[in-house]
Amino acid sequence: MHTTLQLRLTPDVAYVGERLRAAVAESLQVPASHIRAVRPLKRSIDARQRTIFVNLSLEIWLNEAPSTLSFEPIRYGDVSHAPQAIVVGAGPGGLFAALRLIELGVRPIVLERGKNVRDRKRDLARISREHIVDSESNYSFGEGGAGAYSDGKLYTRSKKRGNVERILRVFCQHGAATDILADAHPHIGTDRLPAIIEAMRHQILKCGGEVHFQTRVDGLLLEHDHIGGVYTQQGTEFRGPVILATGHSARDVYRYLRQAGVEIEQKGIAVGVRLEHPSKLIDQLQYHRREGRGQYLPAAEYSMVQQVEGRGVYSFCMCPGGFVVPAASGPEQVVVNGMSPSSRGGQWSNSGMVVETRPDDLDGELRPFLQEAMQDDAFASCHTDMDDASNPLRMMYLQEAMERATWIQGGRKQTAPAQRMADFVNRKLSADLPPSSYAPGLIASPLHFWMPCFVTTRLQEGFKAFGRRCHGFLTNDALMIASETRTSAPVRVLRDAATLQHIRITGLFPCGEGAGYAGGIVSAAIDGERCAEALAAWMDSKTSGSR
Ligand SMILES: Cc1cc2nc3c(=O)[nH]c(=O)nc-3n(C[C@H](O)[C@H](O)[C@H](O)COP(=O)(O)OP(=O)(O)OC[C@H]3O[C@@H](n4cnc5c(N)ncnc54)[C@H](O)[C@@H]3O)c2cc1C
Repeated sequence: MHTTLQLRLTPDVAYVGERLRAAVAESLQVPASHIRAVRPLKRSIDARQRTIFVNLSLEIWLNEAPSTLSFEPIRYGDVSHAPQAIVVGAGPGGLFAALRLIELGVRPIVLERGKNVRDRKRDLARISREHIVDSESNYSFGEGGAGAYSDGKLYTRSKKRGNVERILRVFCQHGAATDILADAHPHIGTDRLPAIIEAMRHQILKCGGEVHFQTRVDGLLLEHDHIGGVYTQQGTEFRGPVILATGHSARDVYRYLRQAGVEIEQKGIAVGVRLEHPSKLIDQLQYHRREGRGQYLPAAEYSMVQQVEGRGVYSFCMCPGGFVVPAASGPEQVVVNGMSPSSRGGQWSNSGMVVETRPDDLDGELRPFLQEAMQDDAFASCHTDMDDASNPLRMMYLQEAMERATWIQGGRKQTAPAQRMADFVNRKLSADLPPSSYAPGLIASPLHFWMPCFVTTRLQEGFKAFGRRCHGFLTNDALMIASETRTSAPVRVLRDAATLQHIRITGLFPCGEGAGYAGGIVSAAIDGERCAEALAAWMDSKTSGSR
């Protein structure tokens, strides 16, 4: 017999197999020996009260063997002789687009500027050890995209639950633990993601697709209002319709799209810092108990938001038990982000703490900061059109100005400027800094003094509000590390809402986070699949039209 059951249990029962089985047996009033398997369908933690509970929805097999898989795997057919399409970028957007194209009978040719996910790891280590950032292989570029060496959080604000579950099932089919199908806040971890990404690549190759690494696309082959393909830095041409999934750090792509007259527009972004607390403190605060998470609970998460002077101040991409990482994708930048291993067992918990900015702010409160940046000849010479209000790249220029200022304040290395949290609120330089997970090293710096005032004054008010809401959160044991600037794309590549093609150029499908249609691994993957479906439908309509 096969049944389902809802239970609300304490963590010491919910997370221990034998005890959970005993609780199920008691609830169903059957002997424990009759229970052949218990599989969680949904699992969430309720830590609002002193006693913490885990809410479980369970699938149970009584006197019957369980099915081996908790989902129906997708069958990927052979597309070796099928018509081809070009996928630029092997991040979540590009990889999920390629896999979906195979399902729909189209042969994907994936072009990726960076290295494969294993070789990429050495370049990441060099950023921390030698302060050398390889512009083609870093935390943003390479197989798996920005999603590979990340936290691997798989939750999204997307309301379309069916789509989200489909993406999670594809991850499971390629090696992710099926726990992600049950957990309210699913998470894979940076130690497990590379093998999953490799499995996706093997799937693409096995079906007759192609994946080319160290193959940077340097331009589009435009034939009036149609795209014929792309060309690479080696001068090779690849022909076919194009899914452009290059992520939000490919600034060269934004620049050549603008130059080629491809319609793009600027969009708001959020910028700020990474905030790092001892994970034990966050566990104590969020689980409301001195012992913190104890033996059974996962590292605690938080989510904070506050409106300050008309702009949102909020936590972003929280990494419990994780590390702050140097996420620059080019020279003369310092950018931070966060990742965590599957265990989330690290000593610190971090999150982005960011302030919403809008294009209008560039000519308003952000202007003094940008004027200061333009005093620097090296910066000014590459941003001569900073004041041109019709320039769609101006929000990207703000990111560049902040990243360069951070690099200068950090000593022109990957060392990051940092300040204790309460010192920042009190506008004091920190006399010393607490230990941190940020491997390239930190330098004490008055962030309130040189970061945009627009950002720091709002962060200060936001932090005070968070401290009032969660006593102990605003503390000098927490460290702010500059600068977090890559929260989303500063540009949107305009596409038609129905066909997902560029508003003018047929055969070009702007996709994922870089095009401005996703923010995170799952939403980029969903957009990748949608673009693949739109491309396949467009190819079909062309073939039936020509018959
Ligand atoms: C450190 C870190 C941690 C993160 N943690 C999380 C998390 O836990 N959960 C979450 O949801 N999101 C997280 N994110 C964000 C998430 O990774 C992105 O939202 C997501 O990867 C976007 O997917 P994408 O495919 O649109 O773009 P990307 O992942 O950026 O992929 C774009 C790909 O295109 C390639 N490319 C760029 N230009 C070219 C070119 N000219 N030619 C060929 N290839 C090119 C790049 O090398 C890259 O591989 C994190 C990001 C970082 C940096």
